Amino acid sequence: MTERTDPLAQWRRTKIVATLGPATADEATVEALVRAGMNVARINLSHGTPEEHAALLTTVRRVAARLDAAVGVMADLPGPKLRVGDLAEPVAIAVGDRVTLGAHADLPANFPGLLRHFAAGQRVLIDDGAVALRVAAVEHSGGSHAKVVLEAQNAGVIETRKGVNLPDTPLPIPAFTAEDEGHLRHVLELGVDFVAESFVRSAADVELLKRRIAELGGDQLVVAKIEKREALLALDDIVAVADALMIARGDLGVEIPPAEVPVWQRRIINAARVAARPVITATQMLQSMVSNPRPTRAEASDVANAIYDSTCAVMLSGETSIGAYPVEAVGTMAEIARVVEADIARDGWPLQEWAQRRARTSDAISYAACDLARKIGAVAIVTPTATGATARAVARYRPSPRIVAVSPRPRTVTQLALAWGVTPLLREEVPHADAVIPSSNDAVLAAGLAGAGDLVVMTAGLYATAGSTNLIKAHVLQ
Ligand code: PEP
Repeated sequence: MTERTDPLAQWRRTKIVATLGPATADEATVEALVRAGMNVARINLSHGTPEEHAALLTTVRRVAARLDAAVGVMADLPGPKLRVGDLAEPVAIAVGDRVTLGAHADLPANFPGLLRHFAAGQRVLIDDGAVALRVAAVEHSGGSHAKVVLEAQNAGVIETRKGVNLPDTPLPIPAFTAEDEGHLRHVLELGVDFVAESFVRSAADVELLKRRIAELGGDQLVVAKIEKREALLALDDIVAVADALMIARGDLGVEIPPAEVPVWQRRIINAARVAARPVITATQMLQSMVSNPRPTRAEASDVANAIYDSTCAVMLSGETSIGAYPVEAVGTMAEIARVVEADIARDGWPLQEWAQRRARTSDAISYAACDLARKIGAVAIVTPTATGATARAVARYRPSPRIVAVSPRPRTVTQLALAWGVTPLLREEVPHADAVIPSSNDAVLAAGLAGAGDLVVMTAGLYATAGSTNLIKAHVLQ
C-alpha cells in the first residue's frame, strides 16, 4: 500500500479556519499558515479597509495556487453590531453609579434610533459583558430618539467604541444592514467562497442574504453565525436554510450565560451534522496564544472536546489576526486535531440513531458508502461532485477514511476546504456519465492520495448534476 500523506500539512479531518489581520497580512506568513494547516482564511470585515480586504484575498489565492492547496476564503459581515460611540476619555464607574446613554449623554451610542425600544430592568452589557448595567429609566423626548438611564451592576471602565450587547431587548433590526450591502458587493466582486452573516435571528435573515447573493450573481455559501438567543430558539429553521453554521461563542457567551454555551455548542454541532452542514466552533479556542507560544491545558482541552463532539472545523480569531504566534496557533490546532482523531479513529466515530432512518437516495448512498468502506477496509471514499453536496453528505457520517471529492468546479473545490474529512481535487469536466469513475480514478492517483492496487469506495451519478448520486462501487485503483 502506498503512503498517503498530503504534500502540505499531514492529513487531518478537522478543518482549521484562521482569521487574517495585521499579524498575518504578508505573503510569507500566509504561506506559513497554509503549510501549518489553515484550510479557510477568514477576513473579518469589521476591521480594515476594502483595499486591505482585496489585498488579503489576492495573497491567499496566490499562495494557494503556488502550493496547489485548496484554501477557502470567508468574508465575515459586521452585521448590526451595537457600540458605544466615540469617548474623549474612558468612563470609570462604580457599582450603583448611574450613567446616561444617548445623544448628549455620558455615553453616546451608534444606535440612537433604537433606544426607544429599551425598557426598565433590561440588561446592557458593554465590552463582552465586562461592564454590566441595567436600564433604570427611559426618558422619551418626544422625537424618535430617547435617553436611557443605566445603573452599573459592577465596577469597570468603559472605553471608546466598545461593543454593546442587549440580551433582553428584542430589536427590530435585520441581520443584514445597509453597511453590509456595500461589503457584500465588494467581496462578491473579489470572489470569496463564503459569506458569514453576523447576529442572525431567524431563517428569514439567512434567506434574505442568500437571495441578495443570488441577485448579485454570486455562488457563495452563507455561514450563519449563531450568537443570539433568538437564533438558538430558531435553530432548526436556520440550519435548514443555511449552508454552514458558526458557533460564535464570543457574542453568544454574552447573550446567554457562559455556562450554557457548551450545552448549545453540542446541540448546534449535532443539528448541523444531521443536516450535513459544515459547522465551525469559534472564538477563544487558543486565546492565550495571542501572547504565548504555547496554549493553556484548558485551551488544548477545549479544542479537543470540540473535535470529540464532532465539530467540522475549529477557528482562530485574535490568535492569528493580531497575535504574536499565529503560525504556532494553527500548528497547535492541527496537532491537537491529529492526536484526537487518531484516538477516535481506533473505534470510529459513533454512528447516531438518525443515520439509520429512512432517507433520500443520495443520503442512503452516502451512508452505504461509509458502511462499505469500513467493512472492506477501503483507504478512501471517492465522491465525484458538482456542488459538493455528495461529499458533505458522506462527511456527516464521519467515516474514518479520507473523503476525496473530485469536482470540475473551482468554487466547489475551495468551498469543500471547510468540509470535515474532505480532500477536494479539481479535475476536468467529463463528457458523459460513463467517464466519471475512470476520471476520478485517475485524479486520485495523479494527486498521490492512494496508489494503484489500493481499494477505495466510489460514489457516482451524473457528474455535473447535483443530487444525482445513486451508485457505489468497491473499486481497485488502476
Ligand atoms: C464571535 O462573536 O464569537 C464571533 C466569531 O464574531 P466576531 O468575531 O465577528 O465578533
